[in-house]
Amino acid sequence: MQFIDTHAHLNFSDYDKDRDEIIASAFKNGVKYIINVGTDLNTSKESISLSKKYDRIFATVGWHPHDAESYDENELLKLLDNKKIVAIGEIGLDYYRNLSPQNIQKEVFEKQIKIAIDKNLPIIIHDRNAHNDVLEILKKYNPKKVVFHCFSSEYSLLWKITEKGWHASFTGSVTFKKGEYYSIIKDIPDDRFFVETDAPFLTPKPFRGKRNRPEYVRFIIETIAEIKQKTPNEIAGITTQNAEKFFLLTKKLD
Ligand SMILES: [Zn+2]
Repeated sequence: MQFIDTHAHLNFSDYDKDRDEIIASAFKNGVKYIINVGTDLNTSKESISLSKKYDRIFATVGWHPHDAESYDENELLKLLDNKKIVAIGEIGLDYYRNLSPQNIQKEVFEKQIKIAIDKNLPIIIHDRNAHNDVLEILKKYNPKKVVFHCFSSEYSLLWKITEKGWHASFTGSVTFKKGEYYSIIKDIPDDRFFVETDAPFLTPKPFRGKRNRPEYVRFIIETIAEIKQKTPNEIAGITTQNAEKFFLLTKKLD
């Protein structure tokens, strides 16, 4: 079984002691590609460095809503001059922690959407307790390729994004909140979702509570397979194909 971890933060200090081992182990244990996601200037640069060091790691760049106040558009544009960048993200709104003022979060979110459209790059959304504003802002610009990372278990949101042709990505949450996610996973069309760890966070069962690692995507796939009454291999195949098409991964390797 081969699969893609479409959202990880392997640059975080959690991996400082054994990053190379964690990555080697991932590629030995089913991971085909990893997309390492930036959250501000430094982490975006670190994502790019990882993508340069490892053929099978891709990078995204962007300012997370927590870091909206440090947004620097000139730096973002400079970073985009790198061929292994596969998306702008993670960007969006976080009204749960509100680490930046909401008006600044919105302004920085909109600016980055415009750049993604201009550069023809997919967008990775971070949306926490901000569904209405996220949707309203997205609909204003109507980008074609959007994925809601760590998709929430709110059923009505599913149709609001799929009707726009957008995608959802599932983390380890689906393994420990299986009941909450059951209908979403059962009903989401096969061509509309990916899988991700959000490592080091959201470690799936049976390793919940420990540090996450890309190879644990396997457990997310197994849960989805069980709910959709398909084999894990089928779900791995579907999600790999979806992610490769969405992020144009094989094209970026040419
Ligand atoms: Zn993340």
